[in-house]
Amino acid sequence: MLHPQSFDVIVVGGGHAGTEAALAAARMGCATLLLTHNIETLGQMSCNPSIGGIGKGHLVKEVDALGGAMGAATDEGGIQFRILNGSKGPAVRATRAQADRILYKAAIRQRLENQPNLWLFQQAVDDLMVEGDRVTGAVTQGGIAFRGRTVVLTAGTFLDGRVHIGLQNYSAGRAGDPPAVSLSARLKELKLPQGRLKTGTPPRLDGRSIDFSQLQEQPGDGVALVGQWGASAETTPEVPVFSFLGRWQQHPRQLPCWITHTNERTHEIIRSGFDRSPMFTGVIEGVGPRYCPSIEDKINRFADKDSHQIFLEPEGLTTNEFYPNGISTSLPFDIQLAAVRSMAGLAHAHILRPGYAIEYDYFDPRGLKNTFETRAIGGLFFAGQINGTTGYEEAAAQGLFAGANAALQALGRDAFVLRRDQAYLGVLVDDLTTQGVSEPYRMFTSRAEYRLQLREDNADMRLTEIGRQLGLVDDARWDAFSRKRDAVARQTEKLRTSWVHPGILAAAEAERLLGKAIEREYNLVDLLRRPGIGFDTVAEVLRTARPNLAPEERVSRETLAVELGDATLADAVIEQVEIATKYAGYIGKQGEEVERAAHYEHLALPAELDYSQVTALSHEVRQKLGRHRPQTLGQASRISGVTPAAISLLLVHLKKKR
Ligand code: FAD
Repeated sequence: MLHPQSFDVIVVGGGHAGTEAALAAARMGCATLLLTHNIETLGQMSCNPSIGGIGKGHLVKEVDALGGAMGAATDEGGIQFRILNGSKGPAVRATRAQADRILYKAAIRQRLENQPNLWLFQQAVDDLMVEGDRVTGAVTQGGIAFRGRTVVLTAGTFLDGRVHIGLQNYSAGRAGDPPAVSLSARLKELKLPQGRLKTGTPPRLDGRSIDFSQLQEQPGDGVALVGQWGASAETTPEVPVFSFLGRWQQHPRQLPCWITHTNERTHEIIRSGFDRSPMFTGVIEGVGPRYCPSIEDKINRFADKDSHQIFLEPEGLTTNEFYPNGISTSLPFDIQLAAVRSMAGLAHAHILRPGYAIEYDYFDPRGLKNTFETRAIGGLFFAGQINGTTGYEEAAAQGLFAGANAALQALGRDAFVLRRDQAYLGVLVDDLTTQGVSEPYRMFTSRAEYRLQLREDNADMRLTEIGRQLGLVDDARWDAFSRKRDAVARQTEKLRTSWVHPGILAAAEAERLLGKAIEREYNLVDLLRRPGIGFDTVAEVLRTARPNLAPEERVSRETLAVELGDATLADAVIEQVEIATKYAGYIGKQGEEVERAAHYEHLALPAELDYSQVTALSHEVRQKLGRHRPQTLGQASRISGVTPAAISLLLVHLKKKR
């Protein structure tokens, strides 16, 4: 590859947003430059060694469906995989993985280094070149100027970052990394709307000093346990995967997590440090993440709780380091140590790295267009934590989106936007750009009013075709997707045209398989809609009723696996057919409900309405509605933080009251 004189897209920052942005722009054929502080920290997880979870897993699947790296890198670096909410409906089911930090970073770096059209360069960016109201490039600390048609800024927690431990604080981008102070000053000069947020991380523990015999073990899904702690689990076909192209064989050895709890003594110790807490003494001014609070915040806010569950998560296969999930803190080190040692299994724990909080600049995302281009400066895009979000997954999704839009602009093509009913990414962009943030924003399934159709399992069905048109999806992914999509269509059609009736399915057989006799003719789609009846059962119904079918007319998992030459793909096809069939009615109804909700813009809300009585409304939304007391449902829907899902709940409440 020849080094270009000028780039189509320059990405600043090699975190989760920056790497997806750079990969996306390069996949779309743009000459792309990724400028970052340190090539060794590409794809680094600043905080917890895990990817996914409820709402976040959905975003990872969407990034993957659009050809992004996060899901595939997790499959290569994941040391524990679980499906959360596995017993609930498919809309809220979510994949979560513990990642080996080193393997994850290596997987990301390998992709970056081998991506055609992408150049990497290590040096801090101190300045942006701006001509008139357009960005024209970036200048590094060493004075090297790179020209670009567009610039995507993904500086994470680094802009004027300040680390706090107790009442001590110092300037940093995160522990061990320099802050971006000059760039922050330059952005302030450009008068972009800016504020301060904070986030925190727990102390890390040395596994050799943990007494695992006192802890509860939590293995991942589908692993075969073969020994004691630290060496315990082999990956099997039942271990979930993240990427639509992922295979369980890619996973390295699997490890369990461990569970301990805080207790009254822990809480006493933590309270004794409040007078030296930067949060409670006003040293930290930035607002922290409500849904990922520090342990001191939890103990202060939920004073009646005498215990909190703490997960001890392994940081990797080649390290003894553990991440105690649930005790993020900026209390002084002596308090951190005493609090850790007060918990079961941790009496002799050694802290490898202290916990800390970091305050940093973010920019009000209402200053962005719905493409993530800043309104103030043409060609300048923002993505990731800089937009007021928190989380690797939120950052990755935004990075891909901003990178693709920067590429489209550089190529003179139309912008890429996603609606709220198409993707969590659409919800994320709409929430940020229309409502802004008052605290670090993270994704939840409750933010999506169309969540029955925005499932993890169908992210590829929703997005891969769009990604292909944009140039984000390569041939291998497109071929695999096309095979799956076609197989789903064929299989659904086969079920629709396979009939059974009482004449060929004896009452006793129907009772055995379906729980009751059939009284008329049914096709297999009708039967599959019944609660508790799955694909394998309807396949057996057909086999029993019509044993002499020609091979091409038979329905079975095994036949499909042979036909596709891939058992994993066959399972994915069957899952799609099952979910689409079973939930077709609900999805249709939800669509109608949301459409109707649009008509309630002028519906008056009674002045005396008691929001605490509205079932399932979050505490936050109740507080906001109680404070603002909107006059109409339309007004309520425009209060920041009042989600469309909350409006639907309000509507249901009003209907009940009538
Ligand atoms: P980052 O991952 O921060 O990456 C920014 C990148 O930009 C880095 O590579 C940096 O070197 C580079 N960079 C910055 N400025 C420049 C410059 N001027 N020139 C060149 N390169 C530059 N998330 C959660 O979901 N839950 C949590 O509990 C949580 N806690 C956190 C605690 C701490 C202490 C920190 C630091 C982060 C925490 N996070 C948490 C947030 C999570 O790490 C981020 O959301 C995520 O990493 C954001 O990705 P990003 O790509 O936007 O930024």
